[in-house]
Amino acid sequence: MTIRSKLTLLFTLLFAALLLAFAIFIYVSSAATREDEYYKRLQQQAITKANLLLGAEVAPEVLQVIYKNSPNALFQEEVAIYDTTFHLLYHDAVHVDKIKETGQMIQDIIREKEIQFTQGELQAVGILYHFKGRNYVITAAARDEYGFTKLQNLRYTLIISFCLAIILTIIIGYFFARKALQPVADIVDKVEDITATNLDSRLPVNNEKDEIGELAVTFNHMLNRLESSFDAQKQFVSNVSHELRTPLAIIITELELALTKERSQEAYKQAISSALQDAQRLARLSNGLLNLAKASYDQREISMKTTRLDELLLDAREMVIKANEDYKVNILFEQEIENDDYISVTGNAYLLKVAFVNLMENGCKFSANRQSQVAISWFGKNVILRFADTGIGIPDEELPHIFQPFYRGGNKQFAEGHGIGLSLTQKIVLLHKGTIQVASQPGAGTTFTVEMPHV
Ligand code: ADP
Repeated sequence: MTIRSKLTLLFTLLFAALLLAFAIFIYVSSAATREDEYYKRLQQQAITKANLLLGAEVAPEVLQVIYKNSPNALFQEEVAIYDTTFHLLYHDAVHVDKIKETGQMIQDIIREKEIQFTQGELQAVGILYHFKGRNYVITAAARDEYGFTKLQNLRYTLIISFCLAIILTIIIGYFFARKALQPVADIVDKVEDITATNLDSRLPVNNEKDEIGELAVTFNHMLNRLESSFDAQKQFVSNVSHELRTPLAIIITELELALTKERSQEAYKQAISSALQDAQRLARLSNGLLNLAKASYDQREISMKTTRLDELLLDAREMVIKANEDYKVNILFEQEIENDDYISVTGNAYLLKVAFVNLMENGCKFSANRQSQVAISWFGKNVILRFADTGIGIPDEELPHIFQPFYRGGNKQFAEGHGIGLSLTQKIVLLHKGTIQVASQPGAGTTFTVEMPHV
């Protein structure tokens, strides 16, 4: 069931319940009033007739004739007068005796002085009437035709108006719900049109303060995030394919060239080793990309445990030196470490090692002396690592770009690379809730400072 139908139904049910209670109240109170008023009328009729008769102003026969000839004799109040010993003194119409008085009834009237009762649709009163020193018992009974007709009309009016009101409520409720939910329908229409090709479209926000406006704003924020991550992915994929294409093209050309004619064994060896070098470069690149993808994961996907950074740095140094024999990495503690926890972080050892290897390798490869100095210290809640070199440095204008994926600085001729290292390192540091900063002076050297919260 749609929210619109639910709202309409709820609105209608609520209104119907209220209206029904209201109609029942009106009907019941009208019925009670009619009954009360008719008892009063019966009483008056009884007393009027008793006065006329007992005062001997009108002969009983005359009263009976008047009664018989009244236009609606059937519904005329029928009056009977008895003495206190149950002797009938007068009866409007004995042959149509509407209620049968009994000795018990007469006794009740004498005792109660006045009684009211119903017999089917008949209403009756019995009163003890005092006239000129004597007591009489008068009864009057009739069906309140006029009152019942009015009540019936009221019932019909209430039923018809109830039905009309409900139909009207359903229609109004439906349109109301539609109007109230129109902004949601607009959002649905608009969202349906958004695909990967038009991620730049945004939902219209009519009123930021209402719930629908909030929904649209939140959705637009989500689109912003999606768009930028989608753009980054596109950029990444095009960079990757570009980076992969170049070494592949070189390998293909080299091998094709080697096959064009018969060559010496030496020349084949040369071609194979050159192709091998390019293939190794490709392997390094794909490893880097793999690590970048790993570091881009949701943090919850990466297993984290308490890790000592000095040990990781030693491992990283070993890896760097194994891969490049001429590189030199010095690790030193800048201050006394009283507690191992000060240099331990909650982190992923594999990723942290990748980041440290990158920083050490960069320091070595961009310095003539192929050396990188790593200093370990801590301050407050952070462990601080400085990767310094005395190499060629980075010009100021390049500093804001060096952490972008695939960015290579003007000094790239100095050393081979793919521009992935620093962006990967930054991602890893951010994953560990840390920061990475760079200070560099061209010609003097570069220092990368990594700060991470220790355990
Ligand atoms: P790559 O080293 O593969 O070129 P990186 O992402 O590691 O890619 O570094 C990006 C750029 O930052 C490098 O091309 C280089 O210009 C500059 N750079 C990084 N580290 C250093 C450093 N220690 N000394 C000088 N330049 C550096």
